[in-house]
Amino acid sequence: MNFKKLAALGLSAALGLSLLAGCAGSGSGGTAATPTPAPVESAPQASAPASDPGDGSFTTVTEGVLTMATNAAFPPYEYYEGDQIAGIDIELTEAIAAKLGLTAKIEDMEFDSIIPAIQQGKADLGLAGMTVTDERLEAVNFTVSYTTGVQVIIVTEDSAITSSDDLFAEGASNTIGVQRNTTGDLYTTSDLEEAGLATIDRYSRGADAVQALLTGKVDCVVIDNEPAKSFVAANEGLKILDTEYITEDYAAAMSKENEALYKAVDAALQELIADGTVKSIIDRYITAD
Ligand code: GLN
Repeated sequence: MNFKKLAALGLSAALGLSLLAGCAGSGSGGTAATPTPAPVESAPQASAPASDPGDGSFTTVTEGVLTMATNAAFPPYEYYEGDQIAGIDIELTEAIAAKLGLTAKIEDMEFDSIIPAIQQGKADLGLAGMTVTDERLEAVNFTVSYTTGVQVIIVTEDSAITSSDDLFAEGASNTIGVQRNTTGDLYTTSDLEEAGLATIDRYSRGADAVQALLTGKVDCVVIDNEPAKSFVAANEGLKILDTEYITEDYAAAMSKENEALYKAVDAALQELIADGTVKSIIDRYITAD
């Protein structure tokens, strides 16, 4: 992934560079707490799973079940509430499954295992605040986008650097924490690591990257805005830089091999967008700034 490809997706190279404003400074001690968004009512479950729902032409990994792969460390899209996985993507999946007469089943895994799970026929779809990118489109289909996200930079409150110039200055050398194989990883790698201006430390969970920031192992974390807000709210001494943003489209990833299921899920999601269900789910988790 490079910025030419991002631009092809409607993302701006210029914004990408300014995204990275202010990644430096030292970390302070502390423990990264797991954010705990307010409990919300859960969406209705499908009451009557059907093996031949809708037009009867699609199949799922398990009959009567819509198996969704996610990485439940990305509040408020997916996170643990006790031993239950909750969040926007969970409720969306339940609403899609209900429309198709299926029961939703959520499988938690590493973020970069989601697309392989879909390709290997272990999951019907993946929802994980996942950004539509050219590279992922080579591996999977994406449904209509149900919302957008933006990449932001988290630093410690005492961080010295406040502009991207510092990052791109001659001799700049910062360590940036990202969640492995997320767009935050892709952007920083193509911009900074390839230019020899930064080291990218990759973590399997965003919370682990934030923990590394708190303990001074990395100088900043590049991650999506909503989990960033949760992590900053849950941990003392962190702030989100007021930078220009890259806006990304989130969508459900699905197999290229199961066109009938793709069409059914995409149509269900389009209906849920049109009738306001998607907005009402998102609004219960994300309040306007
Ligand atoms: N939106 C980012 C991506 O798709 C991060 C998603 C995530 O960490 N769950 O790469």
